[in-house]
Amino acid sequence: MKTQLLADEILNTMNLRKRYGIFNNNMMFLLNDDDKALASELQETCIEFDEKIGGISGHNNMNLYDHFSWAGKHGLINRTNDYPHRDDLHIGMKAEIIRQWTMDILNPQLSLALGASVLAINPIAHHNEGRENLRKDLVDLLDGNKIGCICITEPERGSDAVNMTVKAEKADDGFIINGIKCYNTNSPAADIAVVYAVYNTEDPRGTMVQGVSHKAWDKGFRAERIGIPSVPHIQIGKTIFNDAHIPADYVTGDDGKGYEILFEGLVPERIGIAALNVGQMWGAFTIASIYSTLRKQFGEKILLHQAVGMSVLAKYHSRLMAATMALLKLAETYDEKKDELAGLPPTMNPLVAFASQMKEFTSYLYHDLTYELMHAMGGTGVTDQTLMPYYQGVSEIAEVVGGTRNVQLLIGSRTINTMVKMS
Ligand SMILES: Cc1cc2nc3c(=O)[nH]c(=O)nc-3n(C[C@H](O)[C@H](O)[C@H](O)COP(=O)(O)OP(=O)(O)OC[C@H]3O[C@@H](n4cnc5c(N)ncnc54)[C@H](O)[C@@H]3O)c2cc1C
Repeated sequence: MKTQLLADEILNTMNLRKRYGIFNNNMMFLLNDDDKALASELQETCIEFDEKIGGISGHNNMNLYDHFSWAGKHGLINRTNDYPHRDDLHIGMKAEIIRQWTMDILNPQLSLALGASVLAINPIAHHNEGRENLRKDLVDLLDGNKIGCICITEPERGSDAVNMTVKAEKADDGFIINGIKCYNTNSPAADIAVVYAVYNTEDPRGTMVQGVSHKAWDKGFRAERIGIPSVPHIQIGKTIFNDAHIPADYVTGDDGKGYEILFEGLVPERIGIAALNVGQMWGAFTIASIYSTLRKQFGEKILLHQAVGMSVLAKYHSRLMAATMALLKLAETYDEKKDELAGLPPTMNPLVAFASQMKEFTSYLYHDLTYELMHAMGGTGVTDQTLMPYYQGVSEIAEVVGGTRNVQLLIGSRTINTMVKMS
């Protein structure tokens, strides 16, 4: 921080152990013993890390990309995919959510950047079919020795992502990609990009491909950072594919298979973003709840002024608890039903709708909650003495990442149509 204004007592009480403690007490009856043991193990690793980087000053000056290998070593990048080279980690959507929330309370931007690498991990984990090169990429990404990004959006194709214009052309070995993608989280810092393109722009569904490109290759991708002031530590890019060759060994979906994979990835991606929104709300809430019980004005803790305690803290606490319970239920449903529902078309698969609904709901709540809690902390809320401004920053982009509210609500409106027809 530039200059400390907070009293030592308040600053010291806002330590990470205390913040995890408040979160854990809220989870007391929502998590089972195994979940709590996992949370506690991951939290201890993060507390050690936080002390090592020097607390808030370390977070303010962080180069996120220096810490991917630390996160990977501790299984803090992903818990939904099996690790080909490790069998000591809990895997599943519930374990992933606990990992996610642990990271969200530690550092919201690091957590988001790791999440974008996971978007490259997911398709490689599911479509490497005995290919050693892809298996190596998967291990490198899970271990955080390489950084990944996903390239779907284009300058002229955002919400209408399926109708992409970036072209693929068949080559003797794999295909060649030409065109520009944009808003790709991590791409300026990334080693590996998972990219989508089409052979025929008139038939994107039937000709969509997906492949893996390496920046280090002669014919790989390159990226230029774009400015997104609300997340100053995350590198988000314009990603350029100029005769980028994807050898057959790195093709994860050809001749329309890319379209299937695009949709297969959207459900875990949107549940993941919803989980991040909820975890980051806990991060913001733990800070504001400590502050409001220690800060006094007019001779009273500000929590006891009804306008702060009831109208803000208690109001958003109740909304956050409701979102948390809903998300945990969705994670359990996903773990139980994903294989059974996998073959259904997106309009018939209830997980597609649940994921969109949860993403839309939590994104708006995250923004609303953070604005209110930040201002319940007065001037302190906007300074660099706590992580609050970083939560506020991520909450600014929560709506647009993974598709805006209208895209999620479009899916929701089609679901209503299907439900009525089915009934
Ligand atoms: C910080 C950040 C990180 C991102 N990370 C990635 C990433 O890692 N990889 C990646 O590929 N992309 C990424 N994106 C891109 C993101 O998915 C797109 O920005 C998003 O899908 C919206 O596309 P757009 O920006 O082109 O907006 P547009 O599609 O142009 O939308 C503009 C407005 O029109 C509305 N709209 C559009 N179509 C309709 C419709 N049919 N009905 C009603 N309203 C509509 C939208 O809701 C929005 O309000 C990221 C974006 C940001 C800002």
